[in-house]
Amino acid sequence: MAVVSLQKPLDILHSIFGYSSFRGQQSEIIDHIINGKDALILMPTGGGKSLCYQIPALCLPGIAVVISPLIALMQDQVESLNQLGIRASVLNSTLSASESSEVEKKMRNDDLDIVYVSPERLNTEGFLSNIEKCRLALFAIDEAHCVSQWGHDFRPEYLEFSKLQERFPSVPRIALTATADDLTRQDIVKHLGLENGRIFISSFDRPNIRYRVMSKDNEKKQLLTFLNDEHKGDSGIVYCISRNKVMEVTKYLKEHGYNALPYHAGLNKDKRNKNHDHFIKDDEVIMVATIAFGMGINKPDVRFVAHLDLPKSVESYYQETGRAGRDGLPSDAWMVYGIEDIVKLQQFIIRSNADAEHKMLEFQKLDALIGFVETVKCRRQVLLEYFGEKHSGKSCNNCDNCLEPVKTFDGTIAVQKALSCIYRTEQMFGVTHLINILLGKEDEKVKRFNHNKLSTFGIGTEYDKSQWKSIFRQIIASGLAIIDMESYGAVKLSANSNKILRGEEKVYLRSDVMDRKSTKTKKTSTGKRSILTNAEDENLFQKLREYRLSLAKEQGIPPFVIFHDSTLIEIVNKKPSNLKEFSCISGVGKSKLERYGNSFLEIIKEHY
Ligand code: ADP
Ligand code: ZN
Repeated sequence: MAVVSLQKPLDILHSIFGYSSFRGQQSEIIDHIINGKDALILMPTGGGKSLCYQIPALCLPGIAVVISPLIALMQDQVESLNQLGIRASVLNSTLSASESSEVEKKMRNDDLDIVYVSPERLNTEGFLSNIEKCRLALFAIDEAHCVSQWGHDFRPEYLEFSKLQERFPSVPRIALTATADDLTRQDIVKHLGLENGRIFISSFDRPNIRYRVMSKDNEKKQLLTFLNDEHKGDSGIVYCISRNKVMEVTKYLKEHGYNALPYHAGLNKDKRNKNHDHFIKDDEVIMVATIAFGMGINKPDVRFVAHLDLPKSVESYYQETGRAGRDGLPSDAWMVYGIEDIVKLQQFIIRSNADAEHKMLEFQKLDALIGFVETVKCRRQVLLEYFGEKHSGKSCNNCDNCLEPVKTFDGTIAVQKALSCIYRTEQMFGVTHLINILLGKEDEKVKRFNHNKLSTFGIGTEYDKSQWKSIFRQIIASGLAIIDMESYGAVKLSANSNKILRGEEKVYLRSDVMDRKSTKTKKTSTGKRSILTNAEDENLFQKLREYRLSLAKEQGIPPFVIFHDSTLIEIVNKKPSNLKEFSCISGVGKSKLERYGNSFLEIIKEHY
């Protein structure tokens, strides 16, 4: 393999990675590290954090030690680097003692550029005394938010990393994370001793992700339509709230011809690992999962993340949807939700064992989430503002509200009917029962309580059940009534109800399910790989993808380690006819040109 050292960053970017230019702050960060200084990098998923330490690792003499919390990810990262001709290796519990000492020997002999270690390994005296004998280029601490006890991925081993500074004061340290909040940031600086380092903050916007939130009507059918219209042959994730629902939706998608696999904490570890592996190593797999499927999804070509239930908070939504489109190609964050979701999440909070203060905080988070899903403003702006980032104020043109301004209608009378129905039933009943009364349905419960005698019985037949659900959802979301969890989800009037009942104020509601026949999905669809404009190109893309998969299977690695979809798409669009032209494609460096150039050119030739 090529021995690379002491080259200029831009030359390495061109010749090894095959990319034409740096993105965002990459170049500045790389220079900063090469100059021997420490840094904290806050950059969203897919922003290009890896290059920020990989290129300095190649520019500086000696070995770069990268600390990464997930063993599964380390292997993929090392594979990717090896494919580029970079001398990298892992050092963790998957290696035998003799394999480990072989790696350590290579480190001492300057025969490795980058080593990925687990936090546990880093903290051993054996490892530390070994690296004292090595020439060290830098330390990179990936997923640095694991040092914070506020976050959800807290790893106590991370707290010990402060000793790196004491023991290796002249080796630059670079900490990286996609978690943006202020508390976590402060924790990282404090615990990793980065007070003298520089903080590089990128925008957390993910411009290639299209955000869409819709009223839940028939969720499975809505999902199927979305997949059929926009994501045939794509990989994606469908998040569900419960294990049962995961199994049910997996079955449904399979029956409709999709290669869907389940993932939840109730499956045994082997099964979970197997499904995870399929998802990473095969094309066209849909993972139907609870949030147990989280860390370690480094697949760059996840084309959609669909939510069939509300996530817990805006943070969770951003994290979960952020798993789409790491490769920068157009991707979808798609969600359906209904009033049941709000009720369910409220119940979770009420029934949890948390103390009152904590519950209050959870309720505030839920309110913010409801604000996000109900907003008529640009969703991207609402998201970014939530994270304290100011957006340009212009419409993003890549969320449902920007692409198709929300239609509203004067819902005053509908809301008055709903509120008076709540009042007449003495604020003791849930939404389903209230809707039955409004629709004039004489079911057993309605009869038992004599609710068929009420003045509000049957006064709402101008809407159907799902339309009433949408109306109630908006009534609750805007605080015109509240759900009382202490009394089993009964809807109660609020301080805001009166002015509507007395007709002092009008209420405008989203049309949502009112105009069901709207072509909403069509209008706002990302258009499958819109970059490929004709069937013949799509055909070639499929051929290249199949060939890439066969190469990957031979080597037991994920296909994206060979080439990303974005590289295949560029190959299809430019149709290189010789190695020189092939080398100009983004993502084709020296090593990949040598390994794969000829065989890919062959497929292009065969195709024409
Ligand atoms: P992160 O770790 O921030 O989630 P990665 O480092 O995995 O992101 O980078 C995301 C994707 O962008 C990768 O496929 C990477 O190869 C690609 N990438 C990073 N920097 C550049 C660049 N300067 N030019 C082209 N592609 C890049
Ligand atoms: Zn927008």
